[in-house]
Amino acid sequence: MPKLAINGGSPLIKHSFPSYNTIGREEKEAVARIMDSGNLSQYIGAWHDDFWGGPAVKELEKYAAGMVGAEYALAVNSATSGLYAALGAIGISPGDEVIVPPYTMVASATAALVWGGIPVFADIDPATFCISPKSIKEKITPKTRAIVVVDLFGHPGDYDEIMRIARAHNLLVLEDAAQAPGVTYKGRLCGNLADIGVYSLNYHKHVHCGEGGIVFTNSEVLMKKVALIRNHAEAVVRNMGHADLSNMIGQNYRMSELHAAIAREQYKKLQGLLHTRISYANKLTSHLKEIDGIEPPYVQTGCEHAYYVYPIKYDAKKMKGVHRDTFIAALNAEGLAVSGGYVKPIYLEPMYQKKRAFGTGHWPFELSNVSYEKGICPNCERMNESELMLIGNIHAQLEETDIDLMADVFAKVAENIDELTAMERTA
Ligand SMILES: *Cc1c(COP(=O)(O)O)cnc(C)c1O
Repeated sequence: MPKLAINGGSPLIKHSFPSYNTIGREEKEAVARIMDSGNLSQYIGAWHDDFWGGPAVKELEKYAAGMVGAEYALAVNSATSGLYAALGAIGISPGDEVIVPPYTMVASATAALVWGGIPVFADIDPATFCISPKSIKEKITPKTRAIVVVDLFGHPGDYDEIMRIARAHNLLVLEDAAQAPGVTYKGRLCGNLADIGVYSLNYHKHVHCGEGGIVFTNSEVLMKKVALIRNHAEAVVRNMGHADLSNMIGQNYRMSELHAAIAREQYKKLQGLLHTRISYANKLTSHLKEIDGIEPPYVQTGCEHAYYVYPIKYDAKKMKGVHRDTFIAALNAEGLAVSGGYVKPIYLEPMYQKKRAFGTGHWPFELSNVSYEKGICPNCERMNESELMLIGNIHAQLEETDIDLMADVFAKVAENIDELTAMERTA
C-alpha cells in the first residue's frame, strides 16, 4: 500500500493556507486623508521646496531613515528605480565593471547596464546564498568601480569582509536589501550596511504600498545625486548649483503621496510581522533539522534572517540518491507548495548570452570581454539545479499548526523515500 500522495496515497494537507495580506484599516484611513487633501503628489521638476516632494513623502522618509538609523532616506517608485538611481549616483560610467551576484532579482544586475556599466558575476556562498567575498576578490580588475551585495532570501551579506575589500580597492558598495527589511547584521539594520542601500515596497515583499522603494545613505553627496536622478536632474542642476554632471539624467522615479502614506503605515507594522514570521521559521527549523538530508536555513552568528523565503538545502546522497525534483514533486502532492531552485543564474538569460541590451548592437558589452558562459558561478548553478528548495509562504497569517503540518509533510516523504526510489527506477 503506497503511503505517499504522489503514489496514490492520501495527501497530508487538505486545506489551503491563508494568503499574506498586510493591508488594513490604517492604510485605508491614510489613503483617505491624502484623497481628502486633493494633493496626490507635490513634486516639481525644478529647484524649489517641492523638488523634495510633498508632506507624506517627507514623513515617510523621516520615518524610514530613523527606522534603519541612516542619515538620509529617499522614497522612489520601486526598488528597481532605487538600484538604478544608486548606481547612477555612484557614478557608474560606460565600461565600468560592477561586481554583482548571479542569484537575485534581475534588476540588481541590470542597474549597472542602464549606465553603460558591465555586470561581472561573482559566485555565491553556498551557506548563505549571498555573494561570496572570496569570489568578489577574484573578479576585481582595474575597471571595477562598485559591488552590489544582495541580502538574499532575507540573510544579510558578509559586510565586514566585503567593506574591507571594497575600501582596499577604492570601490563603493550598494546593498540590495529588498528581501531583508528590518533585520540586523551585527546590531545594525539591513539597508544601512554599505555606502548606499535599497528597500522594496513591492507587493511580494514583507510590507508594501503596491509599488515603491526607499534608498538609504549616510552620504550627502550620494543623497543629492539620487534626488536629482529621481526627479528631472537635467532641468534642476543649473539652479541648484550642482556642478557634477555625471549621470544627471532625470528618470522621474518619484513616489506619489498616496503610496508614501500607505508605506508609512506598513513600516509601523514591519517589526510585528517580522517577529511572527521569524518565530514560525524557527519552529519549522527545529523540526526539519531532525531529518537527515534536509538542511534548514543557515543563520550566521550575529545576524537575523528575514525569511523573505525559507531556503532549504537538499542532500540527495542522504536520500538514497532521489533527485531533489522528485522529492519536491512528492511534497507538492502532499499539498505543500515548495519550489526547486530560485531563478536561473542571471548570466544565463538571453540578454547576457546574446550580449544585447540596447537596440540591435552590443552596447555596452562591447566595451568588455567579460564571460557569461555556463560554469562561471558553479555554486550558484549547483544550488539552482539540484540542492536548493524554497518555501515561499511562511508568514504572519499562518497558525502554529500550519507550521507543524509543513514539518510533518517533510517527515512523511523522508520516511517513505523508498517509494520515490522505486518511482525513479521505473520512470
Ligand atoms: C523585489 C526585489 C527587487 C525589485 O523590487 P521592486 O520594488 O519590485 O522594483 C530588487 N532586488 C531584489 C533582491 C528583490 O527581491
